[in-house]
Amino acid sequence: MANQEDRFKKVISHAKEYGYVFQSSEIYDGLSAVYDYAQNGVELKNNIRDYWWKAMVQMHENIVGIDAAIFMHPTTWKASGHVDAFNDPLIDNKDSKKRYRADVLVEDHVAKIEGKINKEIAKARKRFGESFDEEQFVTTNPRVVGYMEKSEIILKRLAKSLEDEDLADVKALIEELGIVCPLSGSKNWTDVKQFNLMFGTKLGASADSAMDLYLRPETAQGIFVNFLNVQKTGRMKIPFGIAQTGKAFRNEIVARQFIFRMREFEQMEMQFFIKPGTQKEWYEHWKEERMKWHLSLGLGEENYRFHDHEKLAHYADAATDIEFKFPFGFKELEGIHSRTDFDLAQHEKYTGKKLQYFDHEENKSYVPYVLETSIGLDRMFLAVFSNALQNEELENGTTRVVLKLPSVIAPTKAAILPLVKKDGLPEIARKIVEDLKWDFNVQYDEKDAVGRRYRRQDAAGTPFCITVDHDTLEDHTVTIRERDTMEQKRVPISQLKGLIKDQVEVKNWLMRMRS
Ligand code: ATP
Repeated sequence: MANQEDRFKKVISHAKEYGYVFQSSEIYDGLSAVYDYAQNGVELKNNIRDYWWKAMVQMHENIVGIDAAIFMHPTTWKASGHVDAFNDPLIDNKDSKKRYRADVLVEDHVAKIEGKINKEIAKARKRFGESFDEEQFVTTNPRVVGYMEKSEIILKRLAKSLEDEDLADVKALIEELGIVCPLSGSKNWTDVKQFNLMFGTKLGASADSAMDLYLRPETAQGIFVNFLNVQKTGRMKIPFGIAQTGKAFRNEIVARQFIFRMREFEQMEMQFFIKPGTQKEWYEHWKEERMKWHLSLGLGEENYRFHDHEKLAHYADAATDIEFKFPFGFKELEGIHSRTDFDLAQHEKYTGKKLQYFDHEENKSYVPYVLETSIGLDRMFLAVFSNALQNEELENGTTRVVLKLPSVIAPTKAAILPLVKKDGLPEIARKIVEDLKWDFNVQYDEKDAVGRRYRRQDAAGTPFCITVDHDTLEDHTVTIRERDTMEQKRVPISQLKGLIKDQVEVKNWLMRMRS
């Protein structure tokens, strides 16, 4: 655990030191759970968004994009269920005056039990060595089986009491488990209450005519209310999708874990409109397709898993999360939800307008069903960034800090370094920058010894360093050094563009989805 925490702290400090993520309004001591993307962060974030957009919109002739406003008519949120049901169960500790999400307190308690299971597994692995069979061990070892049963009983009870809105039982569970406030160590809890996560604001100048608005808590509704507009003007035929990326806002109570859970964040969502009755096959299709997209970035298959929901949201008939192994464990990165006709039918009800599709093949109209894929851009950023940050031991006994970002989304693709600041080398390096910058984000760097510059670019995540030296004056070749392998090759300047393009082109990465 301490190790995990250490690693996560390193991720956060590296993100600041190398210009990826800053705390918002830091000079005013920051604003809790709000972050700014810095000079490198904005490039990485744009590149991830672009990689998603190309895969979802450009590569599918039946998916188009929109960019709806953050403000929406307030009745939208009544229809969607957010006004009545977008709540978190809260509990306060009377001694520390700290507020917690009651379900998270219980889940953290279960995580501790899971920690014990992992300890038992690690111990047994040591004891049995090569012949250790984890599957057999976890199903037969009485202590582990006991821990697992205990976790399951707790989670089932939590899910049931939340579903039944039995908040008294959630409190009873916290008390029975003897959960203490991490700050005060006391069990002096208030009752559990529901708290709505939407941020309210007002439209209009005068107090009496002002209209209460919400900052959207998800981008999806901007797609649903535009369903007919897009379908008609784009002459879209079912099945078809509408994609959107944009900001969403939630007044999260347990806002922690850096950019994993923020109050202002960005979503990348796609709503796929389908014929009722076909939702199962489309659900499977998008589960597979989205996992392929993740795997195409090469962060390691072992770092992903599906987590199917037992407790379904009010709008869903099937739902799964793609979970990623963050520095603090497996957590939700993307949601795939079969939303039925819930949203469109609700908007029909609240507007009195028909939101239907005339299916020529069936010769009838219906409210389409919807399959949603919804991923947090910031969480994807954290997944990529934390996975990339490595402390690598080198053969010569030294270590280097390297940010092994997939080159297709790395902020700077190449750094151009004159070996020395004289003899005409800077001029040649500048010329290379001038030539490459039409196609890629490149950087000129002449400060410090070249070894230090390599390390700096490694830590910033730049996949290639191009060094101009005295031989370049004679034969127009340069050294190109690859970040991950540290291999160096001598190549003609004229080949640089082709070489880099081959490694960073979106096409070459997205093609992996097909293999
Ligand atoms: P969680 O259970 O972690 O609160 P959720 O199930 O409420 O997430 P959804 O409503 O399904 O999340 O939103 C879709 C995606 O948006 C999530 O998979 C996640 O990547 C992202 N997301 C949701 N809330 C936040 C947040 N507060 N900060 C950053 N990203 C978020």
